[in-house]
Amino acid sequence: MSPATGGTEVRVGVVGGGISGLSAAYFLHRQLPQAQVVLWEASARLGGALHTQRVEGYCVEAGADMFITVPPWAVELCKELGVELVGTNPQGQGAYVVHRGQVVAVPEGFAVMMPTRVLPLLSTPLLSWKGKLRLLAEPLIPPRQEMSDESLASFAIRRLGQEAFERLVQPLVAGIYAADARRLSMQAALGRFVQMERRWGSLAAAWWHTQRDSFLGRAAGARYGLFVAPRKGMSGLIQHLADALPPDSVQLNAPVLQIRPYESGWQVQLPNQQHQVDALVLALPAWQAARLVKPWAGKLAQLLQSIPYGSAAVVCAAVEEQHLEQKPRGFGFVVPECEGRRILAASFSSVKFPHRAPQGGLLVRIFIGGSRLEHLLELPDDQLAQVAWDEVASLCRWKVQPRWIRVYRWDRAMAQYHVGHLERVHQIRQELARWPRLALAGNAYEGVGVPYCIHSAQQAAQRLAQALQGHKKPVPAEPR
Ligand SMILES: Cc1cc2nc3c(=O)[nH]c(=O)nc-3n(C[C@H](O)[C@H](O)[C@H](O)COP(=O)(O)OP(=O)(O)OC[C@H]3O[C@@H](n4cnc5c(N)ncnc54)[C@H](O)[C@@H]3O)c2cc1C
Repeated sequence: MSPATGGTEVRVGVVGGGISGLSAAYFLHRQLPQAQVVLWEASARLGGALHTQRVEGYCVEAGADMFITVPPWAVELCKELGVELVGTNPQGQGAYVVHRGQVVAVPEGFAVMMPTRVLPLLSTPLLSWKGKLRLLAEPLIPPRQEMSDESLASFAIRRLGQEAFERLVQPLVAGIYAADARRLSMQAALGRFVQMERRWGSLAAAWWHTQRDSFLGRAAGARYGLFVAPRKGMSGLIQHLADALPPDSVQLNAPVLQIRPYESGWQVQLPNQQHQVDALVLALPAWQAARLVKPWAGKLAQLLQSIPYGSAAVVCAAVEEQHLEQKPRGFGFVVPECEGRRILAASFSSVKFPHRAPQGGLLVRIFIGGSRLEHLLELPDDQLAQVAWDEVASLCRWKVQPRWIRVYRWDRAMAQYHVGHLERVHQIRQELARWPRLALAGNAYEGVGVPYCIHSAQQAAQRLAQALQGHKKPVPAEPR
């Protein structure tokens, strides 16, 4: 008997079979073991933006390819499910950035957006002397007095100077979000830096007081040591989650067309089927959730719709290392907007995680799209692949053509946290309070990365378990 449900069977529905929806189904099943959990996924496969393919011995990640270990939500879930994780290759660390057509190392100690070591900064060719001095003057810049949100560009230019913003912060930070740095919300995406400035007056002072031993260490650029991936690929996590659910919990090729309040729960309309559930999770991109709630919750729909989404493509290519004129350096590189190139970044996937390529092979992942380059996504696959490869080949001084190349498109898949995002999410939560048996999960609200999606699912499951507390359904009469 489930204490939360009073022992009578409840049905809970989950719309969307990406990492958020599957995690929500998993947490619901754990919290309400007597409840029947049903997940509807529109497409023919589970996983959404987590999709691993095997191509000629390569382990290819079409979407997300690793996740951060702090906060630990994803790692904890993997532990619980028995998913084997591997860390990034300790040999090949170091981030690179394109500078005047060359691939140049990010100065050691420059992590996320903070210089923590002076000597490597002084010797980097990435900044002029003026730019370096301005960056080193960060502790002298008075903190902002206003409490309102501001963009990444505004924060970084104010504290670190225009040059450090353009050459380091924009590609290293905005690149991760495929976002426009002039719109990306500091409070939503990088709130801890806002807190550092408020509490300590400058990033340097904050680092000195709090972070220097543990947080940043000697890292450069992205803190790669904090990232892991499932050994069998991101789809391995999806498979473990699906396996942990009771049989028949998941329906594929099952697009939910409509939902509406029904008695104390919800009526869910699919092509040729209708279901009644007591509670429902919408684990969808916000614009897709907006469509479903619009007929009976106009304001909620409007708020959800106002969260913008960006599109991108991941182009994966395999080459044989022996044919490369120059060895790849580090785990890849990011490309500042001011370089005017047609890609955002490239990562050497099999250097980062060596098990991803057969002996002698190199797997390259190239990112295209984001707000500035979205027009390129109109190109057909073969042309898009060629643009991506030409850019990487010219930057790495390679003449070879890849052994194979594949294009994976992610249309309106990346939530953009624009200035004011936290306020919008607060309003969404307020509006949602009117429907206690409805929960939202996904990348639109409190973090785009995999761990944050998992956490959003955990919170959604908790909300519904609470709402269903003491729920009693009429017990059907025993058949005679
Ligand atoms: C290219 C790319 C690279 C990324 N890289 C990383 C990374 O390296 N590390 C990291 O931590 N994060 C990364 N992210 C972010 C992270 O992968 C995503 O935020 C996360 O996977 C989103 O999961 P989700 O379940 O919320 O949404 P989705 O993965 O979008 O899943 C939503 C699911 O809902 C289904 N659906 C839609 N409408 C309906 C309907 N009406 N009925 C039923 N089903 C429906 C869709 O088919 C889909 O399967 C990346 C994202 C992208 C796009």
